[in-house]
Amino acid sequence: MKIDMHTHIMPEKLPRWADKFGYGDFIHLEHNEPGYADMIKGNKFFRRVEQNCWDPELRIEEYAGHGTQVQVICTIPVLFSYWAKPEHTLEVSEYLNDHIADIVEKYPKNYIGLGTVPMQDTDLAIKELERCKKIGLVGIQIGSNINDKNLSEPQFFPIFEACQEMGMAVFVHPWNMMGFHSMEKYWLPWLVGMPAETSRAICSMIFSGVFEKLPKLRCCFAHAGGSFLPTIGRIEHGFNCRPDLVAVDNPVNPRNYLGKFWVDCITHDIKMLKYVLETVGTNKVTLGSDYPFPLGDLTIGEFIEESDLPASTKEAIFCNNTLDWLNLDADAFS
Ligand SMILES: [Zn+2]
Repeated sequence: MKIDMHTHIMPEKLPRWADKFGYGDFIHLEHNEPGYADMIKGNKFFRRVEQNCWDPELRIEEYAGHGTQVQVICTIPVLFSYWAKPEHTLEVSEYLNDHIADIVEKYPKNYIGLGTVPMQDTDLAIKELERCKKIGLVGIQIGSNINDKNLSEPQFFPIFEACQEMGMAVFVHPWNMMGFHSMEKYWLPWLVGMPAETSRAICSMIFSGVFEKLPKLRCCFAHAGGSFLPTIGRIEHGFNCRPDLVAVDNPVNPRNYLGKFWVDCITHDIKMLKYVLETVGTNKVTLGSDYPFPLGDLTIGEFIEESDLPASTKEAIFCNNTLDWLNLDADAFS
């Protein structure tokens, strides 16, 4: 069985939140051509998407073509809307979470759902986290920073603590990329900014002691942890040579946390994937694709199937590691 734990989905129709709330660059959709929709941010074109961005049955058919039976679905990061007034982000989150919960309820053997919460407001985030659990979602997806605040900020700790207490998994996805406006050419926010963002998130959580204080928190990071794993040597050396700067909140060597969180396999490079497996352990790498977006691995792990990795490692990546991360049983999908 293959479970793809990194995929994005949205409803076919979105309310006109900017009109309703009277401000802001909320995303709305324009369906000008059958099978396509233009995502509009404020009044600027953001991205053209296809029907597989919202149609659950078309998706099932498409991913079955790559030997996949189950997708973990979460929203598209541009819809996080953390910049809005908290009560409005909450309303957006509720809308998106209800949509995902409906799909999970209708197709329980094909979909697992992660929610989104208004991270900029700790109380509202926990309130929506609780509701996510009630409506059948098994975790949340959050950004790599929240309105430029790092995940090390004390305001986020109670949210992580609530996730641990409730047994809700956390998927950290890069968004609101650092340096966005100074490197828009060549798609650099996606090619350079995103891997850096994910490393920023992991370092922030390690150095502030989130993993140290919450050992049962189940966290997975997108795109194989971005640039974190390839630069762990530098990060550890920094910790050792300048503890006055690095070890101010947590005295534990960052290398100690390897194997304590999950990363997906989206590397597009078998050599890098082997390094990642060696670094975090074969039980901590999950199958992800970033479906349905073109920068993703849209043959859903074919490069792993074709590799010389042992069958047991492939099986762990394709299924068991995601089940462990989400604390789910394979029987639920057979
Ligand atoms: Zn993604």
